Amino acid sequence: MAAKPIVHCDEDTDPTARLLSAGQRLILEAARLFPAGVERDERSLWLEAIVDEVPDYLFFKDRDSRFVIANRAIVRDNQRNGIETIEGLTDFDLHPHHVARVFYETEQEIVRSGQPAIDMEELVRDARGNLKWLLTTKLPVFGDAGEVIGLVGISRDITERKRAESLHVGQAHLLKMIALGADLGQIFSSLILMIEAHVPGVTGSILLLSPDGRHILNGAAPNLDPGYCKLIEGAEIGPRQGSCGTAMWRGETVIVADITIDPLWDGLRDLVAPYDFRACWSSPIRSYQGKVLGTFALYAQAPGEPDAECMKLVGMATHIAGIAIERKQAEDSIQFMAHHDMLTGLPNRVMLDERLASAIDAADETGGVATLAFIDLDNFKLVNDSLGHDAGDKLLRIVAARMLACVGPDDSVVRLGGDEFVVLLSGAGPDDAAVEGRLKAVREAIAVPVEVERRSFQVTCSMGVATYPAHGRNATELLARADAAMYRAKEIGRNAVQVFTTEMATSVHQKLERQEELRQAIARECFVLHYQPQMDLATGRIFAAEALVRWNHAEKGLLPPATFIPLAEETGLIGEIGDWVLKAACRQNRAWQDAGLPPIVVSVNVSARQFQDKDWVERVASALDESGLAGCYLELELTESLLMVDVSGGVETMRRLEKLGVNVAIDDFGTGYSNLSSLKRFPVDRLKIDRSFIMDLPGDADDGAIARAVISLANTLQLRVIAEGVETREQLEFLREAGCDEIQGYYLSPPVEASAFEELLRSA
Ligand code: C2E
Ligand code: MG
Ligand code: MG
Repeated sequence: MAAKPIVHCDEDTDPTARLLSAGQRLILEAARLFPAGVERDERSLWLEAIVDEVPDYLFFKDRDSRFVIANRAIVRDNQRNGIETIEGLTDFDLHPHHVARVFYETEQEIVRSGQPAIDMEELVRDARGNLKWLLTTKLPVFGDAGEVIGLVGISRDITERKRAESLHVGQAHLLKMIALGADLGQIFSSLILMIEAHVPGVTGSILLLSPDGRHILNGAAPNLDPGYCKLIEGAEIGPRQGSCGTAMWRGETVIVADITIDPLWDGLRDLVAPYDFRACWSSPIRSYQGKVLGTFALYAQAPGEPDAECMKLVGMATHIAGIAIERKQAEDSIQFMAHHDMLTGLPNRVMLDERLASAIDAADETGGVATLAFIDLDNFKLVNDSLGHDAGDKLLRIVAARMLACVGPDDSVVRLGGDEFVVLLSGAGPDDAAVEGRLKAVREAIAVPVEVERRSFQVTCSMGVATYPAHGRNATELLARADAAMYRAKEIGRNAVQVFTTEMATSVHQKLERQEELRQAIARECFVLHYQPQMDLATGRIFAAEALVRWNHAEKGLLPPATFIPLAEETGLIGEIGDWVLKAACRQNRAWQDAGLPPIVVSVNVSARQFQDKDWVERVASALDESGLAGCYLELELTESLLMVDVSGGVETMRRLEKLGVNVAIDDFGTGYSNLSSLKRFPVDRLKIDRSFIMDLPGDADDGAIARAVISLANTLQLRVIAEGVETREQLEFLREAGCDEIQGYYLSPPVEASAFEELLRSA
């Protein structure tokens, strides 16, 4: 399309004259726009004035690119005096050759083609040496015959706009980097380079505040001497710690115009001396909530302060850096949350899978092993149910921290959920003394009484151990087997460790079947009580019997309590079994009394779940009521660990039992972790020394010492004391000599059916 001629000339023959008049005509044409009534000459003067006042460059050039007319802006920026000094010159007279060449070629193309060049962006250096961006349009000027006689040009200084634009592009680029999760160091470097490009003569640096809020960490400083950055790393922040250390400390911008004299740099002057900085301006980078995260600083080689424009850029930079840091922190915390348990801060199942996979890989490579211990807290449910979830949470946190303290730096303690944990030990099998030691330490650490809400608790744990590659070929199998071993530890009475064996591979299915079987046994009351006599050593009289439950299984015969009590406790079925035992024992004892036998005390074992049951004391009362047995002929055997779970709650329940006249004994004494001060608070009548301390008497000196200690402790606390599991005459003599009041055990009689026990009583 042919360009629309904007100027028509008179038929002058001299092209320059023609062009001049063309210029005048342009002015005159434009002048037509002026309000009527203004004189023509006056209007042309005004128009000239306007052309001169316009800050843009306006000019006419002839066909050879010689200036014919130039406005004042051109004259001024080329440091000329008066418009005449430009007339007849070309760009080659005003600009470096390579710049002028580009202008010239464009213009000659316009002259040749008659086509305008619209909105060209040009980078030029003006006579003062400043780089400038121009937006230029050049249009051909046609003579009457339609030939190009020259061109008219207009250029606008768009340096500011270009700056803003490039900042905009830079910002957008940085925000994109942030959004895409680019490396923080890369984001910082790009940010610094962008600012450096806009502020001549400065070098940027980003420093971070350490998580403890006290030390400086390097962020990025692409153009700063790495030696200097190294010197700063780890330095403490403070009220006179250079520009950045002080800015972090104060949480405000610190402008140091001259490092060599500013007191803030007193302690660091020698450090910075070799690096040739004179000024350092530092601004804090803040989080959205205003927390100081680091600093953005500019170093200058010349002393001085930054101008407002520079500080505006710094403001933008700290803002972007803040976003980047916060985004990284958010990402890190999401990452952390995905891999950790929020309550305890321990790694979670996801992390376990990763660590287990790499432990297995490492074992494959080195021919080594990896050991996995599955841990379930024994009495946790009780704590949670009786004291609420807050107390439960607190307990889990404490236990988690203790476990962590017991293992090595290469081991992992993982919380799977609830009260289930896994400890992963790399490098050795469960027979290895070091591994055994670490696992033992974990168990002991868990069992140390915990103080929560001014109450003292004790939780024990059941632990199942499996080792790669001996017990499982992959992570899933290994976990399942450690889990199976843990169940076995529960079954044998909790507070125990079991290493996986193939017999343990009983399926969940089998377990469910057994549970169902037990439920039916309860419904049909397929249980019997056996009674084991207890003898007073002073008189030789049988004065009491412990009632011990057996499951009368249709196919398997009589099953001992160890085979079903743990399952009953786990599933809550123990409540119903316990009620049955309690009633049956009271009824039987009353029946013996009614039959005219010498009255004895019947001892009934109570499991933790029963004891925690809110209306348990009422049930005991109604068992006595229904049977007509006096409270003083009933004794309840509680275990130490059961009482330690909730000392004050326990004391209260026992006081209520005391009111019924019922006796309380502590069973299996010595195997738990009673603290003696709590023991004093319990209204207990008897201690039953655990069979494990009696078994090796009188040969074993340690057991002998423990038995003696328990006996003398009981004497001090004015409690009666009975030894369980006495099998030999020698054991009996030892105990008698040590001051023990009473014994129970095979030496006297194993637990026997009610009828057999009746015989025993009669013959005594
Ligand atoms: P326990 O209360 O410590 O009961 C003593 C256990 O030691 C009984 O095992 C008894 O048969 C055994 N025993 C007694 N004298 C000797 C001896 O001289 N040598 C040896 N080797 N063993 C002896 P049993 O009947 O198998 O009961 C085991 C555990 O089951 C009991 O330990 C008790 O904790 C629990 N249990 C029994 N009946 C009940 C019950 O009705 N309810 C609850 N919750 N637990 C019960
Ligand atoms: Mg007992
Ligand atoms: Mg016992």
